Amino acid sequence: MDEDNEETIHFHQMGIDDRILESISKLGWSHPTPIQEKAIPLALEGKDILARARTGSGKTAAYAIALIQKLLHLKQTASEQAIRAVVLTPSKELCQQAHKNILELTAGCSRDVKCVDVSPQVPLASQRPVLMEKPDIIVATPSRLLAHLRAENIRLKETLEMLVVDEADLLFSFGYEDDLRELLDNIPKIYQAFMMSATLGVDVINLKKMVLHNAVILKLEESQLPEATQLNQYHIKCEESDKFALVAALLKLNLVRGKTIFFVNSVNRCYLLKLFLDQFGIRSCILNPELPVNSRCHIVNQFNDGMYDYIIASDEVTDSKKSGSKQKPKSKRSRKTDKEFSIARGIDFFNVSNVINFDFPQSTDSYIHRVGRTARADNPGTALSFVSIKDHYLLEQVEKALLGENADDSDTIFKPYNFKMEEIEGFRYRAKDAIQAVTRSAIQEARMKDVKHEIFNSSKLKSYFDDNPQDLQALRHDKPLHTVKSSKELKHVPDYIVPQTLRGNKGRSRGRSFSAKSNSKQQSAPTSAHTGKKFRKRQADPLKSFEFAGLTETKKKKGKRSK
Ligand code: AMP
Repeated sequence: MDEDNEETIHFHQMGIDDRILESISKLGWSHPTPIQEKAIPLALEGKDILARARTGSGKTAAYAIALIQKLLHLKQTASEQAIRAVVLTPSKELCQQAHKNILELTAGCSRDVKCVDVSPQVPLASQRPVLMEKPDIIVATPSRLLAHLRAENIRLKETLEMLVVDEADLLFSFGYEDDLRELLDNIPKIYQAFMMSATLGVDVINLKKMVLHNAVILKLEESQLPEATQLNQYHIKCEESDKFALVAALLKLNLVRGKTIFFVNSVNRCYLLKLFLDQFGIRSCILNPELPVNSRCHIVNQFNDGMYDYIIASDEVTDSKKSGSKQKPKSKRSRKTDKEFSIARGIDFFNVSNVINFDFPQSTDSYIHRVGRTARADNPGTALSFVSIKDHYLLEQVEKALLGENADDSDTIFKPYNFKMEEIEGFRYRAKDAIQAVTRSAIQEARMKDVKHEIFNSSKLKSYFDDNPQDLQALRHDKPLHTVKSSKELKHVPDYIVPQTLRGNKGRSRGRSFSAKSNSKQQSAPTSAHTGKKFRKRQADPLKSFEFAGLTETKKKKGKRSK
C-alpha cells in the first residue's frame, strides 16, 4: 500500500489508545492490514464479528487491538480485577503465537492489561497460581479452558465480556465442538464475540450460530493469497527423478535465495528429501507431526532467528481432506493427526522468502496454507511448485479456485518457471545416484533416529534449557542423519556440471544472472543475516533473482554451518 495515498488509513486515525499506538510503532507497522482496517472500528463499536481471514492477514492483531483498547477503557471504571477476555485457539502452538502477538501489543500498557497463555503445555495445577491473579485476557485451547473451569481455577460467568474464537474452522475439525458447548454454559449470556476463520464452510456457520449474536460478516475482497505484486507463483512441470535433480541444482548453484520451506506430501518423503540433500552437503531441518511439540516450536524459532535456511515439512493429513468437502465427525485418532497438521498451518514462520512445493499439494486449501507461509504481512515472497503429470489437474483446480468466478479465460496465477532441464544433465546423474542410495530402510531408520533424537532434545529443552537459554542455541536440528553412506563427490560442484550460462563465476561474490533477462543490478545472495525488511523489499523475487554466487561462497557457507 502506498503510504502517501490519501485513502490509506493509519492506526492513529482509529481512536486507539496511545499506549497501543506506541506498541504498534515499535513493531514497525505503518498502517493497518485490510482486515484490521475493517474489523477494528466495528469491534470498537461493540459489534460481533465473523471474519474470513487467512493466517498472515494480520487477523490476530485485528482482534487483539480491539480487546486491548476495550479493556483499557473498561478498566478506567472497573472496581476489581477480573478475567474479561478469552481467546480460544485449536492448539498449543497457536495459543503461544496469539499470546506472543498480544504481549507485543500490550508492551506499552503491560501493567494495565495482563495476558496469560494457559494452553496445555504444562500440568493444569501449575497454571492455577497465575489464574488466581485474574489476568485480563487468557489464551487457551477449549479443552484446557474447560478443565480450568471444572477444576474451579477460574470463573467466567460474571466477568467475561469478550470471547475470541480463532482459527474457527480448525477448532471444529479438531473436534472441540462439545467442549465449546459446555464452555458457553459457563460464560454470561451477553458478551462480545469475534470469530476468525480461514474458510467459511458449513461447520463455521454452525459455530457462528452457537457463539455469535447478529454478527457482521467480513469477507474481504482480498484474494486468499497476496497479490502477484507481492507473491510470485511459479510452476515447473517435472517428474519424480527430475524433481531431485532440479532441487539439487537450485540449491547447489545458489539459485534459491533466502529462507525456504519445502513441502512434501508424506512424512517418509520428508526423510527421503533430507537424506538426499544430506548427500550433497545441504543441511535441512525436518518439521513433521511425529516430532515432539517442544522440538517443533524450537525448530521454527531457530528458523525464524536465521539459524537454518531450509525446512522440509509435510502436511500429510490435510491432503486427504479435499477442499470444500463436507466433513464427517472425526474419530479421536484422526482428530489427533489433524491437530498435528497445524505444524504446517498455523505456526508463524517469519521472513520466509520461498515456499517450494516439492510435491504438489492435494487440495486447494492445502496449497493456500502452504504458500501462505511466505509473503506474510507486506513482505514479498515466491512460491514454486513442481508438478508431475498426474498432478496437472490439481494445478488447474488450484488456479481456478484462486482466480475466482469472475476471471477471464486469459487470466493466470501461475507463471511457468523457465528452467532448462537439459542444462543440468550433470545434476541428473548425480541425483540418480544419490536417490538410489536412499533405500526404504534408510528412510525408516532415519525417521526413528530423528524422533528419538528429538524426544531426547525435547526433554532437555523443557528443563535444562529454561535455565540456560544460551545453550539452547547450540541445539541444532539440521544435523545429517547418516543413514545413507555419503560420498564426498556429491558435495562439490565441478565446473563441467554448471550450466553454460553460469560458468566463469567461480570465486566471484557477484556473478552473472542465470535467467535469460539478466539484471546486472541484482543483489548478492542474502545470507540469513540478510533478511532485513529493507533488503527483502529490494529483492522482490528471490527465485527469479538468479545469480550464481560461485563455489567459494558455497564453501564458506557450508563451513559456517558445519559446526
Ligand atoms: P496473523 O495473520 O495474525 O498471523 O499475522 C501475520 C503477521 O503479520 C504477524 O507476524 C504480525 O506480526 C504481522 N502483522 C500484523 N499486523 C500487521 C500490520 N498492520 N503491518 C505489518 N505487519 C503486521
